[in-house]
Amino acid sequence: MTSLTEGRTSLVAGYLQHIADQCAGDRSGKVADYIPELAAADPEQYGLSLCAHDGYIYSVGDTATEFTIQSMSKPLTYAMALGEHGPDIVDAKIGLEPSGEAFNEISVDSRRRPRNPMINAGAITAASLLLPQDREVRAESVDEVFAELVEFYSACAGRVLTIDDDVYRSEKSTGSRNRAIAYMLDSFGVIGTDPDAALDLYFRQCSLRVTTDDLAVIGITIACGGLNPRTGRRVFSRRTAQRLLSVMTTCGMYDGAGDWVTSVGIPAKSGVGGGILGSLPGQLGIGVFSPRLDDHGNSVRGVDTCRHLSADLGLHMFNIARDSRVTIRSVYDIGEFEVGPRWTGTHRAYLRGCRDRARVYELQGDLTFSDVESVLRRIDRDIDSCDIVIVEISRVDVIDPVARRMVVGGGLSLAERGKRVLLVDPDGALRDGLSRLEERTGLPGVSKIELPHMYSTMEEAVAAAESIQLEGAPQ
Ligand code: GLN
Repeated sequence: MTSLTEGRTSLVAGYLQHIADQCAGDRSGKVADYIPELAAADPEQYGLSLCAHDGYIYSVGDTATEFTIQSMSKPLTYAMALGEHGPDIVDAKIGLEPSGEAFNEISVDSRRRPRNPMINAGAITAASLLLPQDREVRAESVDEVFAELVEFYSACAGRVLTIDDDVYRSEKSTGSRNRAIAYMLDSFGVIGTDPDAALDLYFRQCSLRVTTDDLAVIGITIACGGLNPRTGRRVFSRRTAQRLLSVMTTCGMYDGAGDWVTSVGIPAKSGVGGGILGSLPGQLGIGVFSPRLDDHGNSVRGVDTCRHLSADLGLHMFNIARDSRVTIRSVYDIGEFEVGPRWTGTHRAYLRGCRDRARVYELQGDLTFSDVESVLRRIDRDIDSCDIVIVEISRVDVIDPVARRMVVGGGLSLAERGKRVLLVDPDGALRDGLSRLEERTGLPGVSKIELPHMYSTMEEAVAAAESIQLEGAPQ
């Protein structure tokens, strides 16, 4: 039986599985092979996780597989540097402009700063800022700073992360390009510490292991302004979160940033291990993993998945202006209303005894995927204590197509569970949209599929709820 939101057969999991299926066929791209550990990854693996703003996680595919975080570590180390030194000091060392070049390009701006914190040059500089600003750095100091870094990353993920020692050793022994970058920056006076210590810290941070669930939680922690909703812990400030979202938007996907913002519109960061971390402000954290990479070093299926999430679920950050973040305006049972006068005395007495079994959810604002997801989850939580759900949408302005299908799907799956769903839709917002969908797609009958019962006023819906309740009344 399909549940609204819980478990593998939920409506939302169904959407995610559909997206996973659409992307699974693409076998283009190449697994990173600059070190043997990455080359050995199973190219067919695929995982997708979403974390809602209250910390609830949906996952499909290989979501238990651990892989190295690689460049998705860059926003986190940048956050640590900002927290420790403040933006002025950090900005003096690391620029904020998209480079339009590959992640490992040896490039600096006219002030000889790395162009941004999402390319290797900027990330190595961010790591250097965490170390003692001294040319001689003891090995134990690097260990101490790395322990703090692991603690910070783990607080973002809500779980203790561990290092992949083999990847670390390989990164370190093959990292000539990164070494060249660090020494070049050092020669420009950008690195205030021992460049080898900065590199060591950078190689270690890249070698931390994550799952797609971890990425989704890190994504939602950024999206929630630095507060991890699963642990309730504030890991970094809102100001820092705003910066991370900004640089992820402009520089997170390297030289494809303009196309990314236009076609996907989700602040994101990729890693050569095949992961992509997405963060939709105030709404969702996203983790995707599939090892084959495109020419930019971004996961092919990961990019495709983000395109689908954006298009199919309406997740582009500029999707639509919303009136309000508060989608559920109020929840109450029909005890708020007098029992209708048209029933007999016995029936009225019976109805008074079951007012709390019919619950009203008043919604407001514009409805998108994540709004409907949180409404459905709320209904899921309450469902055992009621038989009739009345959804009132007179204050809803825009319902985007996927939200519309979710409302209908939610209604159908509640019906399957023996619940009755009544919809108060005075302006016909839901039905209009479905008829338009029917015209556009040429699919006959979309608007006639068994919809929740529709009413124009709350009085009509309450009267209908009463008739339903009387079906169970003793004769
Ligand atoms: N360890 C890799 C490097 O520094 C990380 C790069 C990436 O994920 N884009 O080259």
